[in-house]
Amino acid sequence: MDKYEVLKKYFGYDSFRPGQEVLVDAILEGRDTLGIMPTGAGKSLCYQVPALLMPGITLVISPLISLMKDQVTTLNQAGIHAAYLNSSLTQGQYLTALRNMQRGQYKIVYVAPERLMTESFQEAVRGITLSMLSVDEAHCISQWGQDFRPSYLRIHEFVETLNYRPVISAFTATATREVREDILALLDLRDPVSLTTGFDRKNLKFIVQHPRDKMQTVLNYLKEHEQECGIIYCLTRKTVEEVCERLQREGYSATRYHAGLSDRERQQNQEEFIYDQKQIMVATNAFGMGIDKSNVRYVIHYNMPKNIESYYQEAGRAGRDGLPSECILLYAGQDVITNQFFIDKMEGSEAMDDETARMVRERERERLRKMTFYCTTNECLRDYILRYFGEYGSNYCGNCSNCLTQFEEKDVTEVARKLVGCVKESRWNYGMTMIVDTVHGSRNAKVIRGRMDENPYYGSCSEIPVYQLRQVMNHLILNGYLLLTDDNYPVVRLTEQSMELLEGGTVTMKVAKEQPKEKAKPEREKSRRLPKVEGDVDPELFAQLRELRLELAKKEKVPPYIVFSDKTLAQMCLLKPRTKAKMLEVSGVGEFKYEKYGERFLQKIRELTAGEAAQQADQGLPEEEDEEEMPLEEDLAAAPVRKNKQPFEMTEEIAQKIQFSSRVTLSEFVKQLNSLRDEKTVRCLAFQDIMQHLIEEGYLVEEPGAEESKKHRSITAKGLVFGIYSEKIFSQYGDEYEVIFYAEKAQRQLVKKLMGEWKQA
Ligand code: ADP
Ligand code: MG
Repeated sequence: MDKYEVLKKYFGYDSFRPGQEVLVDAILEGRDTLGIMPTGAGKSLCYQVPALLMPGITLVISPLISLMKDQVTTLNQAGIHAAYLNSSLTQGQYLTALRNMQRGQYKIVYVAPERLMTESFQEAVRGITLSMLSVDEAHCISQWGQDFRPSYLRIHEFVETLNYRPVISAFTATATREVREDILALLDLRDPVSLTTGFDRKNLKFIVQHPRDKMQTVLNYLKEHEQECGIIYCLTRKTVEEVCERLQREGYSATRYHAGLSDRERQQNQEEFIYDQKQIMVATNAFGMGIDKSNVRYVIHYNMPKNIESYYQEAGRAGRDGLPSECILLYAGQDVITNQFFIDKMEGSEAMDDETARMVRERERERLRKMTFYCTTNECLRDYILRYFGEYGSNYCGNCSNCLTQFEEKDVTEVARKLVGCVKESRWNYGMTMIVDTVHGSRNAKVIRGRMDENPYYGSCSEIPVYQLRQVMNHLILNGYLLLTDDNYPVVRLTEQSMELLEGGTVTMKVAKEQPKEKAKPEREKSRRLPKVEGDVDPELFAQLRELRLELAKKEKVPPYIVFSDKTLAQMCLLKPRTKAKMLEVSGVGEFKYEKYGERFLQKIRELTAGEAAQQADQGLPEEEDEEEMPLEEDLAAAPVRKNKQPFEMTEEIAQKIQFSSRVTLSEFVKQLNSLRDEKTVRCLAFQDIMQHLIEEGYLVEEPGAEESKKHRSITAKGLVFGIYSEKIFSQYGDEYEVIFYAEKAQRQLVKKLMGEWKQA
């Protein structure tokens, strides 16, 4: 089996998400890895997929019992042998689990860091081969992070007790430099492949409101989102109590969570929420770590939290399944005062002297200020957050309350020409800041030293604020008018488009409206009870499938989203599969889960769509079709008309629509081609087929690895001429990895070949 087969068979997914594949490949090549990805990006899969392909056992270190439990349940449900070892087991259970591990009954074992150095565990590990040690929530090793766990420091010690060294992989969502450096050093990662993926969560819509009556605003919102699960965060226990009580009085299925409740009640309330028995969780920030519930459709902040880090982490608990979800912050001036109060009475730890404590408080105040700006800015909210985390975004996302109300299209040609002109007239290549400072007419030392004050464009935009110049600059880079190199010290270069612009082209971009006006009341969104996926989901069918899911989940004693996610159910509603093969196409349905639940869902879908199928048959319409696979016997009755989809064919029409870019990876390119076909009648073009052609014709060679999954592809001289090249990519921290790219030339040649020699019969 290769990694794609594992992904499909066990997890039911067709493709990796951004970043996952690089990490999976690195692990399979035996490299240490560090994956830094935002919450919900899919870090678990990065070690689970290779774990299944490697010969021995993978140990996963995880900080929380609830996290381990959730993961192990998910794996077991997918047909993967996994177990956890932590203090929630009785001594008997623990010893049995250890014995099973020694007998090789598990592929993946989750273990609490405290267990590593115990005699019984060490004894058990002596008899087995560890292929990999994977450290989840790796920021717990760092005292800089919020969740420092001293026992994480013993992981390295544990590795040293082994007389061989397994691959070590580490994962976290914390992106600060200090934490990252601690992880690398304290886990002693060797020549690691390290990857930081973008922190943007495109499916989240960010909304800030300044309502007069917060309670009423929440009630209005809930009325229109009755079927959905959500979290409401409040700053204080008292507010939690008030809000929760009011919601219950209004008949909502709400529960609460804060540090003032007994352990037992907290545990119980949390479970009710996770198991979909309660729809709304009202909580303080004590709630959430280790909550992987995937179908949280909204996170409302009833109060502004203390900083952007907390906000993004809490808001990020919405939409982990990738479906559109909303993050709403209800701001009031009082929230600033409450937070300030918390900061003022913040107690330093014993180890902190007065001076340090004062500095910490000052830093907290600064973070609070930035949080407050978020609530009052007119600019794109997403961009604000991303910039806070040190990423460049475009200044317009089109999916936040500001972009939807506060922006206008503006002609920025004049400024753009000056920026580009400045780059053109510079003697050397410079970074963005230098260019912006120059046109702004700054007299800082760098400008003077570089003699940029002699540049003809020096000071040509002195009346425009630097932040606006920077926005235009970003826009120019994002849209190819300028190129920012991929180096450690990125510099700005000209492109073909730069010249077009200087010779008379124009540029427009979305910018925040000039005068900050009274915040527009955000329009009330239309009711959206169903997960928003492309296409129409039949609400009745969706409701019935959910009901079936709940029934099965109860029987298995697992949370419903572990049976199938909302997204998977929604896809079933769209595809309306009537056969096993078709059901397996649904994202999230792997073979094992199919065996377990597939038939029940098929049956339900057939029942509920029997009328439709008959109608289609009457009209002689081809039914949504499977790939080559023969229909199973039992399916024949339910599927009266069958006709195959056409294979993908490159036509002039498709070729016209292709957007060529200076470089893409093959899978990105194939994805684009597939998006241009008519999905209803045409099958996907397979990435593997193209790869096969390229290898057969000698553009690439495949060097067989020890295993299928370790194959390495390299480019031949012929391939280079074709326009294929590889590049060492440096992450923002200077680590490198190799990626194969297809230049525009290669993309055009691929299209030609698809129209000619490779045309399918
Ligand atoms: P993280 O640990 O990064 O916060 P998880 O590993 O818990 O995220 O994954 C979040 C969700 O994304 C899970 O429901 C998981 O099944 C889903 N997921 C992960 N990888 C993929 C993929 N390649 N395609 C579709 N869904 C995925
Ligand atoms: Mg995780």
